[in-house]
Amino acid sequence: MQSKLPKVGTTIFTRMSRLAEEHKAINLAQGFPEFDCSPELQGLVDKYIRAGKNQYAPMAGVMALREAISQKVCTATSYEYHPESEITITSGATEALYVAISTVVHPGDEVIVFEPAYDSYVPAIELNGGVPVFVTLDPQYEEIDWENVKSKISPKTRAIIVNTPHNPTGNVWKSSDLKQLATLAEEYDLTVISDEVYEHIVFDGREHISTASIPSLAARTFLCGSFGKTFHTTGWKLGYCLAPKELTAEFRKIHQFLVFSVVTPFQFAVAEYLSEPAHYLTLSAFYERKRDIFLDAINDIGFGIKPTEGSFFQNVSYANLSDEKDLSLAERMTIEAGVASIPVSSFYDRPTDFKTLRFCFAKHDDTLLRAADALRKVAW
Ligand code: PMP
Ligand code: GLN
Repeated sequence: MQSKLPKVGTTIFTRMSRLAEEHKAINLAQGFPEFDCSPELQGLVDKYIRAGKNQYAPMAGVMALREAISQKVCTATSYEYHPESEITITSGATEALYVAISTVVHPGDEVIVFEPAYDSYVPAIELNGGVPVFVTLDPQYEEIDWENVKSKISPKTRAIIVNTPHNPTGNVWKSSDLKQLATLAEEYDLTVISDEVYEHIVFDGREHISTASIPSLAARTFLCGSFGKTFHTTGWKLGYCLAPKELTAEFRKIHQFLVFSVVTPFQFAVAEYLSEPAHYLTLSAFYERKRDIFLDAINDIGFGIKPTEGSFFQNVSYANLSDEKDLSLAERMTIEAGVASIPVSSFYDRPTDFKTLRFCFAKHDDTLLRAADALRKVAW
C-alpha cells in the first residue's frame, strides 16, 4: 500500500517512553504528570458514572461543560464564545487541532508553522494535501522576527498555527506578538489555529495572552485547549475548540464523523470542577516551584539553560559538554544514566541538531532530584 505519511514513524514520545521502560530509566521524556489528579475530581467522575451519565454526549459536548468554558474564557478575556454555536468538546487538543486543520486546509494550501513544532501539526496538514511552510526558530530563541514570518506568506497561504506557552521551548508570547499575529492574519486573511494547552502554566509573573483576548483575532481563530495539562488528566483526552459560529459549523461537520462525541461522565465532572477557579489558577505556582527545583539541581552540570517561561518542559543545551547528536545522546543517557529526555531535533522538519534536550519536570520533587543526580554521572 502506498503510505499517506511516508516520512512518519512512531512518535518520539512513544519511542523514548518505551526505551525508558525497557531500561527502568526515570522518564522525563514524554510530557505527562507523575502525580494523580485531585480526589475531588475523581469523586465527581464517580458521581456522574453512578448517576447514569454513560450514554453518548451531545455531538458538540455536554452543555454544562460548554457553559463553564464560556464563562471561564469570558472572565479571563472578556470575549464571549456562545456555548451553543461556538464551543465544541473534543477528544483532547489533538482532535481539536486535527479537525481545525482539516476544516481549513484544502489541497495545495500553505500553512505557516513555527518550528520546533509539536508533532501532530505537520501530519495533519499533509493528510489534507496542504504544504507546511516553516518559520525556523532556535530552541532557546528570544524574539520572533515578524518580518521573517511575513516573508513566508504567499498567495497560497491559508492558515498559521501558533502555540503559546510553547512546546518544546517553553516560550510564552508577549502581548506584542499577539498584536503582530492579529495584524498579519487580518492583512493576509489567514485563519489562525492556536494551541493553548499550557495556558495555565506560566512563570515569573508572566500572563498567558490568549488569542481570545483580541476580538479581531478571535474572529478568525480556532482556539484549541485541553484539560489534560490543567487537571493532571492527560489520559482522559478531554479538550475543546473555540471558534466563531461559521468556523464552528464547518468544524463540527468533521468532528461529528471523526468521533461524534466524547466521554460523557468526564465532561460533567470537569464542568462542575471548573466552577472553582483555584483549581486551575494555582497551577503556575505549583509548576514554577518544580522548574526551580529542577534548575537548581542541574545547575552545576554545565548545561546552557534559559529558564523556561511556561509549560512543564525545560530545554537544556549540552553544546559545551559534548558533540554527540541529540538523538544518540538521549538514547545513551536513557540506557547508561537512567534518565530519558526528548532530543529537540525531533521537533524540526529537516535534520537539525542544536545539541538540546527537552526534560519534562511534571514529576515528584524526589524524581527530579534523582534525575539530576543521575545526569551528573553522564560520561560526556
Ligand atoms: N499541543 C501541545 C503543544 C501538546 O504538548 C499536547 C500534548 N501533550 C497536545 C497539543 C495534545 O493535547 P491532548 O493530550 O489534550 O490531545
Ligand atoms: N505532548 C506530550 C509531549 O510533548 C506527548 C503527547 C504524546 O505522547 N502524544 O511530550
